[in-house]
Amino acid sequence: MKNLRDFTLEELEVLIKDLSEPIYRARQIFHWITCKLAKNFQEMTDLPKVLRYKLSENFSLSLPEVIEVKEDADKTIKLGLLLEDKEIIETVIIPEKDHYTLCVSTQVGCAMGCKFCLTGKLGFRRNLKVYEIISQVVWAKKILKERKTNLPLRNIVFMGMGEPLANLKNLIKSLKILAHPWGFNFSRKRLTVSTVGLVKEIEILGKEFPVALAVSLHAPTDEIRKTIMPIAHKYSINEILQAIKKFPRIKNGRITIEYLLLKGITDTTFCAKKLVELFKGLPIKINLIPFNPHPELPFERPSDKNIEEFQKFLLSHKILTTVRKSKGLGICAACGQLGAELIKNSFPNSVNKKTAVRTS
Ligand code: SF4
Repeated sequence: MKNLRDFTLEELEVLIKDLSEPIYRARQIFHWITCKLAKNFQEMTDLPKVLRYKLSENFSLSLPEVIEVKEDADKTIKLGLLLEDKEIIETVIIPEKDHYTLCVSTQVGCAMGCKFCLTGKLGFRRNLKVYEIISQVVWAKKILKERKTNLPLRNIVFMGMGEPLANLKNLIKSLKILAHPWGFNFSRKRLTVSTVGLVKEIEILGKEFPVALAVSLHAPTDEIRKTIMPIAHKYSINEILQAIKKFPRIKNGRITIEYLLLKGITDTTFCAKKLVELFKGLPIKINLIPFNPHPELPFERPSDKNIEEFQKFLLSHKILTTVRKSKGLGICAACGQLGAELIKNSFPNSVNKKTAVRTS
């Protein structure tokens, strides 16, 4: 059975027309399965019983099963979701001062093989379907509702498992569902897609459905980048820069440059100077991510003093620079850690093995 969570409102309208029902029914159904978090058709009490029956006979609203909920001392919540084919993904609910951010996965595993990322070590299994992406938002909203939290889920960052732009078609459709005013109604500015810099796909996203963009640069020269990110053999930093410059900026927002600080590799004065050369005067902000060490990865975290000096240097050259605070470290939900427990269990195809998620 087709899952109705795969449908945009426009597709639902076509479907409803085919069922010879009035078109406004599509809007009602879309509203139920997004904002109202309906689990089944019986809940849709403003639809005629006959239509509810017809829908339940032909379509599904199934969600992946939540098989694990882990909460860190800092209140970060990591969900392990079991998909229909027994693959497992993770999604992370991150508490902020006045809202929650959800870190969403777009693939099972990842083909990009970044050397500092545990998800990259898992390899690629498959792309997520639209409803599997959307379900992460549905579950996060349900869990926050159950906990009666007053803070809204306001931001979605596509920084979980996988390279979002390598699953472009399903990503764009999911974004359309998430941003639709009759659906979840997320502001496009609050939907952030993170990428290692797939140049052609950045261009397509910019044309078809621009949202906030974050580019995981992580190194300021092609030479250094090639040692930690295989994608650097395909696209140069110059090509990525051109794509960034052309990308439409939502409400004049800045494009985020994610920059991983690896001790002795990307935290040097040389690297800081190169970053200034690359970005001075561009409408970007640099988000520094101090590396989260893990026994499976051969890198070290720079000292706090080095991190501070690196940030100060960029700020002194008028480059807006923030340092990302790691959240969810205690439950392997921080940047670059998704996949930690999967690696231990050599990527299971089984419910009994546990998971964890990454960073783009
Ligand atoms: S950092 Fe992102 S793109 Fe790179 S391997 Fe990890 S999940 Fe894939």
